Amino acid sequence: MITKTSKIWFNGRFVDWDAAKIHVLTHGLHYGSGVFEGIRAYRTKKGTAIFRLTDHMYRLFRSAEVYKIRVPYTLVGLVRASKELVRINKLRSCYIRPIVFKGYGEMGLSPAKAPVDVCIAAWSWGTYLGEEGVRKGVTTKIVGWERISPKALPMSAKATGQYLNSILAKLEALDAGVDEAILLDYKGFISEGPGENIFIIKDKKIITPPLSSGILPGITRDSVIKIAKDLEYEVLEKDITKNELFSADEAFYTGTAAEIVPIRKVDNKSIGEPGRITKRIQEVFYSIVKDANPKYIDWLEFV
Ligand code: PMP
Repeated sequence: MITKTSKIWFNGRFVDWDAAKIHVLTHGLHYGSGVFEGIRAYRTKKGTAIFRLTDHMYRLFRSAEVYKIRVPYTLVGLVRASKELVRINKLRSCYIRPIVFKGYGEMGLSPAKAPVDVCIAAWSWGTYLGEEGVRKGVTTKIVGWERISPKALPMSAKATGQYLNSILAKLEALDAGVDEAILLDYKGFISEGPGENIFIIKDKKIITPPLSSGILPGITRDSVIKIAKDLEYEVLEKDITKNELFSADEAFYTGTAAEIVPIRKVDNKSIGEPGRITKRIQEVFYSIVKDANPKYIDWLEFV
């Protein structure tokens, strides 16, 4: 269940949580014509900070642009509203969900005439795959549903309708009794999880699928690539076969909601306990979001 807070930012105003409502004939509800973000604020030792807030908002605007949705606010305005929302709700660490969608007024498939609604909500939300998952790793399954081809949809956009693909993958994984899904891309290579990017480690090399496999260009993925390079590991963005995943020394997911989660099993193949390199990268990541590691201070946007 979502833990209710006091206010939601809705079309330029802070409204009571229970008053942030929309009409049942909202375009985005019927056709998935919306774009959104998932962002985290952390209670660092220097105060509450939102991790790479501007980068998330930038991706939100890029996603909107792809679907020709004109956001009626500026990026700076939404950054300011997000910080204010965290303050008003007296949140220390939380999840922030901005969403821009085609609203009520038009039902045809062309959303051109439908108004655009913008909303930002924030609430306390623990790590998506659980604390134990972060420490001990999770079990996974390569599911039958493949990641939507980038020839069918612009998969670098974070659009609401695209998430039906993720929902089916997640359900298949849960039905199989594992924690999380892994989707193959349309060419049969590893793409990502339903809401996480994937990394594998083989012979000390850190490998992650390229954007051409239809993945979302994750901000945690980008952060991990930077951290890994700073730790002087070689990082490769290249197609990963199923067999490369099965025979990886280490593997992990990255994502805002999930953070950095070791993968300990894929199908019936054990990858093993969280490995040394995964743990090293987790350590640096948490030193940023908890201890405000000065080396990466630019990634923290204090509220
Ligand atoms: N892939 C998908 C499909 C996602 O929904 C997410 C979560 N936004 C990610 C990857 C990870 O992206 P990020 O690190 O920016 O949260």
